[in-house]
Order: sequence, then C-alpha cells, then structure tokens
Amino acid sequence: PLSAEAVMTSPPRTTPAGKPLLEIVGIDKSFGSTQILKCCSLEVHPRETVVLIGPSGSGKSTLLRCVNLLEPADEGNVFFRGEDITRDLRNAPRLRREIGMVFQNFELFQHLSAAENIMLAPMKVLGLSRADAHDVALDLLKKVHIPAKADSYPDELSGGQQQRVAIARALAMKPALMLYDEPTSALDPEMIREVLDVMAELSAEGMTSIVVTHEMGFARRAADRIVFMEAGEIVETAKSDAFFGGTVNARAQRFLEQIL
Ligand code: ADP
Ligand code: MG
Repeated sequence: PLSAEAVMTSPPRTTPAGKPLLEIVGIDKSFGSTQILKCCSLEVHPRETVVLIGPSGSGKSTLLRCVNLLEPADEGNVFFRGEDITRDLRNAPRLRREIGMVFQNFELFQHLSAAENIMLAPMKVLGLSRADAHDVALDLLKKVHIPAKADSYPDELSGGQQQRVAIARALAMKPALMLYDEPTSALDPEMIREVLDVMAELSAEGMTSIVVTHEMGFARRAADRIVFMEAGEIVETAKSDAFFGGTVNARAQRFLEQIL
C-alpha cells in the first residue's frame, strides 16, 4: 500500500493564488420534471466561512450534494482548486478526501467507539497504522473538547458529543473544505452551543467552510458571507457585516423575521 504521506501529497493540495477554492457556476439540477436548483453560482475562497440559509425545500442540501458529487449537477460547472469536477465521478474519491461533510443526524458507526469512528478513514484511505490513526483520533477528540470520550460508543454519548465526534471524523482526512448540513438541527438546545463553538473555532483557525444553518448567532459570529436561497435560486450573497447591518434583500428579511 501507498504510504500515508504519498497519498496525502499525490493530488494537488494547493489552490492557485487568488483563485477560489470552490467555484460553482450556473448549476441546474432537476429530479424528474422538477427543477430543484436554478442557475446557482457561488465562490468560496480559502479560509472563508459561508453560511447558507433559506426555507426548507429551497435546495440547500442539494447544492451541497452537488459540490461533493453525491448528486451530479445537470448543467453548469463546479470547480475545485480551479479544476472542473462537475460530472466526472472519477473525481469523487479525491473530493471525499478533500471535502469533509457533517450531517444533521451524525451518522456515526454505532458499533465503533468514538476513536474507532475517527480512525477508520485514515487507516483505510490514507493507509495510517492503527497506532498512528489512534494518535490522530486522540488529538482530534481534544480539539473538539471531548478528550475523555475516546472509548465511548455513540449510544453512550450525548447528541452534542456525537456531533463533535462526527466533526472530528471529518477532520481526520485533513479536508480543505468542510460542508455542514444543519449540524445542530437534531440537537437539544443546551447542546447546540458546544457544537457551534467547535465550528466557530475551526473557522477562526482558517478552515474553509460552508454551513447550512438557521443559527443566526453563529452566522453573525463566524460567517464571512451569508448566502440566501429560495426556491432553488441564490437570491442574495452578502458580506456578513452588510447582511446583519440591515442592507438585506426583502425576501431574505422576511425569512429572517420568521426564524428569529
Ligand atoms: P433544503 O435542504 O433547502 O431543505 P433540499 O435540497 O433537501 O432542500 O430539497 C430541495 C427540493 O428537492 C425539495 O423539494 C425536495 O423534496 C427535493 N429533493 C431533494 N432530493 C431529492 C431526490 N433525491 N429526489 C427527488 N426530490 C428531491
Ligand atoms: Mg436540507
């Protein structure tokens, strides 16, 4: 097998200077005869955190799924590090290494401990030894503030702890981009903060991220830009300051009034 180092360094791991890490250009996506995404365009630059908001059913999850090729876009293009990855599924393995994804329902392996959940991909995909992968897991559990939970199984952890294990598991691949799809929607209110705090810390350290969330406190604290989607369209993209400073598109304003 390839050494971990060889695997880690084989694809281009840098973004050409001044280029967005991710560039979505005019993508359309339909399921059957229903068009779900309508000419969506979005750039995400290295170290940026973009918060994606919008009503349920507006296409936020579908947009994220087009980025990591869980759903290929019908029209338009997705560039990652300047490379067109839109519909070539041969790119999927590399993208899944470089793009970490965190879901609403954690999706941890129930029969594996917290540490083992984190160790799996580094061992299988990067070829790390069990001992090295275990070291990585312990470091990451420290980073998400649950250093003592390495040997706990998911059903022994709170929802907030499970979601932090899921974040640590995504980070174990050293992703260039993190996608979070409503990561706190399934959590009890008292656990939301601990997960958002970890995400905000990662953003502050320069982790490039797209976050689908209704948590406007997090958006205000951690987002560089806010993107508002409605009925499959990106209706507004604004710098966080401008967005919260009140210069908001009327439709985005109505949505905010509903959720706040
Ligand atoms: P959001 O994440 O903003 O709530 P989604 O991207 O999940 O929105 O869904 C947008 C629309 O696409 C919804 O109407 C949903 O029912 C539909 N949709 C999503 N995935 C599929 C699919 N695999 N097949 C058919 N329709 C889908
Ligand atoms: Mg969704």
